[in-house]
Amino acid sequence: MLTTRPRGTTDILPGQTEKWQYLEDTIRRLCRQYGYGEIRTPIFEHTELFVRGVGETTDIVEKEMYTFVDRGERSITLRPEGTAPAVRAYLENRLFAGPQPVKLYYIGPMFRYDRPQAGRYRQFHQFGVEVFGSHDPAVDAEVCAMAMDLYARLGLSGLKLHINSVGCPRCRPVLREKLREFFLPRLDGLCASCRERLERNPLRILDCKVDTCRQAAVDAPAALDYLCPDCKEHFQAVLKHLDALGVAYQVDRFLVRGLDYYTHTAFEIMAPDIGAQSSVGGGGRYNGLIAACGGPDTPGIGYALGLERILLAMERQGVVFPGEKRLDVFLATADDAAREKALPLLQSLRREGLAADRDYLGRSLKAQMKYAGKLGVELVAILGSDELCRGVVTLKNMATGRQEAVPLDRLADEIRNSKGE
Ligand code: AMP
Repeated sequence: MLTTRPRGTTDILPGQTEKWQYLEDTIRRLCRQYGYGEIRTPIFEHTELFVRGVGETTDIVEKEMYTFVDRGERSITLRPEGTAPAVRAYLENRLFAGPQPVKLYYIGPMFRYDRPQAGRYRQFHQFGVEVFGSHDPAVDAEVCAMAMDLYARLGLSGLKLHINSVGCPRCRPVLREKLREFFLPRLDGLCASCRERLERNPLRILDCKVDTCRQAAVDAPAALDYLCPDCKEHFQAVLKHLDALGVAYQVDRFLVRGLDYYTHTAFEIMAPDIGAQSSVGGGGRYNGLIAACGGPDTPGIGYALGLERILLAMERQGVVFPGEKRLDVFLATADDAAREKALPLLQSLRREGLAADRDYLGRSLKAQMKYAGKLGVELVAILGSDELCRGVVTLKNMATGRQEAVPLDRLADEIRNSKGE
């Protein structure tokens, strides 16, 4: 136990973290350009928030939450998703009283007690956006386009945007009824979960991944067939905007998303080459959620993208990550006198904005050079008794073998110049 992490979690180690930082930097730049501000909410919330905000009949709430009672006898849940916390923060901090719409983004870990497999973890990371306060179908199109823009900036290709409308509380009761009528004579073909869903949430049957349920659903009625005029108009406007933006999409009549609060637009983005867990992101409009959480009647829309799956897709597609050198210079010392000088010299280099490090294991000079090689350092600054006397260091380029004596007060500039070569 002491040397094994919990199932479904990962350690992200140096070498890998640089890829995460690159992904996160790209996301932050994207969000700035699209006018989103970052929100950071707690990792845990009151359980009730997710029960209400995600929906009692969802897999997340029924089976996947990390819930515990804290020392104050409160039921607490590690956040399984980011929308409900963002809504809570919007209400609690009265963001609805300021200028609308409010455009928020978040990046962070989420927790779901799911069966771990490639691309599915118990602690994973999502980047998500939420727009509160606008009904405009242009926003629906823009958030889809923004997600696709991110993938393109990361160098990913072949991703498919699937889109649908799931209707609204006005047209959904009709659809629910039609689905009940359709599936009732086909009950035997449905899995145990779907048989239960028939009463509580028949739309979710359309979303079931079990083969027999998929077969049973082939000719099922879909939301698109029963949209009210407003929903129809909204959906057509979204598609028109996507066309105008040149964003390719595929209308998927059976796309429903697992969450109860979605209205109108629902979408999902699939990557063809990352295996069974091919969804790299999804989202949609949730005009009922903010009121359901006790706030004013406010429309909302958002998405969440899985960062592990994006990185997986990038690796599978052979995307080259920009390399990041960890050190600009390694300071090697020949004896104790030099070692004593090394620490202040290192600090002065760091104050000059350079990344610099040294040996801390009492290695010989030769072993230090070897160690610097292993670290992949290009420049080694050598400090020995001769250099100390002359007030210089020997700066060695590990790639070319070229070396020269550099006065201490010119060292930082010289390292910077070599970096630019
Ligand atoms: P959801 O919040 O379920 O709509 O998921 C949005 C995105 O988060 C998915 O498309 C995945 O990319 C990612 N995701 C969801 N669950 C997991 C998980 N257990 N492990 C890794 N990524 C996940």
